Amino acid sequence: MIFLLLLALIPQQILIATSRGQANIPVTTESGTAAVAAVLLTQPLGLTVSLDGAAAHVTLGNGGGAFDFDVGSPYVRYDGAAYPLVGAPYIARDTLFLPLHWLADYVPRLLSSRYRWDPWLARLDERPAPPPPVPAVAVAAPNPVTGLRLAHTIVVDPGHGGVDPGNPGLTLPRGVAEKDITLGIGKLLRAELVRRGLNVVLTRASDTLIDLASRPLFCRADCDLFVSIHVNSMPAGRRQKQVNGVETYFVSDAKTEDQKRVAQMENDALRFETSPAGSGGPLGFILNDLQLNEYLRESARLAELVQGKVSAIHPGEDRGVQQGPFLVLAAARRPSILVETGFATNQKDGAFLGSAQGQHKIATAIADGIVAYLLEFERKIAGTGGGQAR
Ligand SMILES: [Zn+2]
Repeated sequence: MIFLLLLALIPQQILIATSRGQANIPVTTESGTAAVAAVLLTQPLGLTVSLDGAAAHVTLGNGGGAFDFDVGSPYVRYDGAAYPLVGAPYIARDTLFLPLHWLADYVPRLLSSRYRWDPWLARLDERPAPPPPVPAVAVAAPNPVTGLRLAHTIVVDPGHGGVDPGNPGLTLPRGVAEKDITLGIGKLLRAELVRRGLNVVLTRASDTLIDLASRPLFCRADCDLFVSIHVNSMPAGRRQKQVNGVETYFVSDAKTEDQKRVAQMENDALRFETSPAGSGGPLGFILNDLQLNEYLRESARLAELVQGKVSAIHPGEDRGVQQGPFLVLAAARRPSILVETGFATNQKDGAFLGSAQGQHKIATAIADGIVAYLLEFERKIAGTGGGQAR
């Protein structure tokens, strides 16, 4: 249902307002994803395009930035870094079409001092006075520990905190709740990722509550992945103490009752929050972001690799990759996953989660999964001619 609504939210045209005038640009979805004809951007954005075979070099007027595309490849390169796109540039009727995603997301994000995108009005505004862009950090040789060539920033989100204890469980050590386990694993995960040469941002490093809506905001321009850590629990009933194991979620519509239960449980943190989560309530918040499904495929792959590593060291079952409508993942504009690291209602899982050794094993396994994903990502970028990425 979310996807149908989102399709309805793709604008039929966008307005571009710059010092060189205003223009309404029609949006086409003929290739399956929203795109705009490059030639129509020439007047308002001062766009120049040079095509060399499949390579398209696009510059915005007045030194606004240079972007490189490959026709048919869902990536854009800017300032030495490569970024994934929803949909690929294509040529039809002798015209180059560029993904709306690039214009509506990357242009305002990478050139935030120059452009602002209003998703509700589908309007791109040029700002006056352009300060120089921040240069990206270049990494030359591959990292000796991981083999990664590019710099990556991971946002690690320990679930719950402060007045929101998360689930108290039945089998965790006395006085310990989900929020303590997630913080413990989150800090260990940070250490493991830093050891592997990655940059890490923690959404919280202490026992404080951060709004669900604020957590993904940690993952914007300088972030590659968003990983939220949680602890599962079963409601009272016959299976309560039996069910065990680890599962990894990416955001999507829930397909099963179990998936709905977990999403509802984690979204329930909303009730501890003092500020309303956006104008349209929880659903409005999810729909607020047109790019909700843009990283679905990447998120699913990341979930698969992390789940594989964690299930290999976990005493409980491998419950596989799952999908659910998690508020905390919905607005992260990067591949994002939520790891349910075990059940606080199962004796064996609870003991594992409550132990320093268990938390360390989980953190190490998640870090291994993240590195495996990033290596794959870098290979893919290199395959599309983006080897110069940062
Ligand atoms: Zn949780």
